[in-house]
Amino acid sequence: MPNHLVLIGGGHSHVEVLRQFALKPLPDTRLTLICQTAHTPYSGMLPGYVAGHYRYEQVHIDLRPLAKAAGAEFYETAANGIDRAKQAVHTEQHPPLHYDQLSINIGSTPNLADASGAREHAIAVKPIRDFNQRWLNLLERIKAAPAPMHIAVVGGGAGGIELLLAMQYRLAPYQPRFSLWTRGAKILPTHNTAVQKKFMQVLQARGVEVHCQAPVSAVNSSGLITADTQHHTADEVIWVTRASGADWLKQTGLALDQNGFIEVADTLQTRTDPSIFAAGDVASMLNYPLEKSGVVAVRQAPILAHNLRSALNGQPLKPYRPQRHWLALISTGDPYAVASRGPFTASGRWLWHYKDWIDRRFMRRYN
Ligand SMILES: Cc1cc2nc3c(=O)[nH]c(=O)nc-3n(C[C@H](O)[C@H](O)[C@H](O)COP(=O)(O)OP(=O)(O)OC[C@H]3O[C@@H](n4cnc5c(N)ncnc54)[C@H](O)[C@@H]3O)c2cc1C
Repeated sequence: MPNHLVLIGGGHSHVEVLRQFALKPLPDTRLTLICQTAHTPYSGMLPGYVAGHYRYEQVHIDLRPLAKAAGAEFYETAANGIDRAKQAVHTEQHPPLHYDQLSINIGSTPNLADASGAREHAIAVKPIRDFNQRWLNLLERIKAAPAPMHIAVVGGGAGGIELLLAMQYRLAPYQPRFSLWTRGAKILPTHNTAVQKKFMQVLQARGVEVHCQAPVSAVNSSGLITADTQHHTADEVIWVTRASGADWLKQTGLALDQNGFIEVADTLQTRTDPSIFAAGDVASMLNYPLEKSGVVAVRQAPILAHNLRSALNGQPLKPYRPQRHWLALISTGDPYAVASRGPFTASGRWLWHYKDWIDRRFMRRYN
């Protein structure tokens, strides 16, 4: 019987794993991809899609041809459990699937439990795969509204700010009012001061109200409530805060960090079970506290592919060593971007075109 390698999730790491297995097939191995959607979004281009620079198909990877090229069976369903004693993955639609080796790349889920009412009244960006429909519904509501709406975005990181500016650019004909709410003393806390200053200038120039040190404790049908018990009216609340691991991971017996992400060693093997690997947002590296970012998931992919192959062949595994700083290109809605890497910053239209070139090149590898 050939070994069975099962990949759960079609995230940024697994698309590259599939591409590498397509280029160099795994001998004597059955390969299966389980993913709840056939189209996986590329996060780097999501704000550009919202801004209207890209069409849906330009920012999504179709997993079916990719899986086929890699010789993988594709199960379009969600995994919802792992029976480690029986080495079986449970899914929503199929009988338990036996594995010899498993890899998990399922991203993160929003921390809506942090604020009461957020689950019912806020629009969560994560999981990104569901965001498209929520965004299209929001567009319809804004177009149909008799007066300009007030949109509150909760989350002062790059994801929240990029998304706010992208929405503002796209919705300019409807002139909505925007506000940004963040618990931190500054926006973009993981970026340097020059980047923070640049984005404060952009937000102020575009009339966005920025509320720092304003943790949101509740959301209701008429707006949001901050920790100081003040109610602030808003027509729509968009939730882009720090996310956590999927709930079902808690029942797998795999060691999780305080945010529910799977703890992994440098080889991307889980701390608990060397036959299970994890990469991308869902993985929490024991030796490196890393920001959740598509870039990390992409960078981990070649090591993950190598290690999955080596583990099946009984060969030594390689460690993933993250860079201390990596380049983030954060767009401002219009074709303009700000570069941030450690203490370095730069901005301009040319950076947006550079980002566009990088992103399109990335997508060409998979579509
Ligand atoms: C608005 C916004 C903009 C962002 N922009 C950037 C950016 O420009 N650059 C950057 O580096 N990062 C960006 N990020 C962060 C980035 O989105 C994440 O870090 C990245 O998507 C994580 O990749 P991943 O491969 O771990 O998971 P994901 O990209 O989330 O992929 C997970 C996959 O697993 C599937 N899946 C999930 N659960 C299951 C299940 N139970 N069973 C089967 N399949 C499942 C999903 O359908 C999906 O295909 C942004 C985030 C936001 C919110």
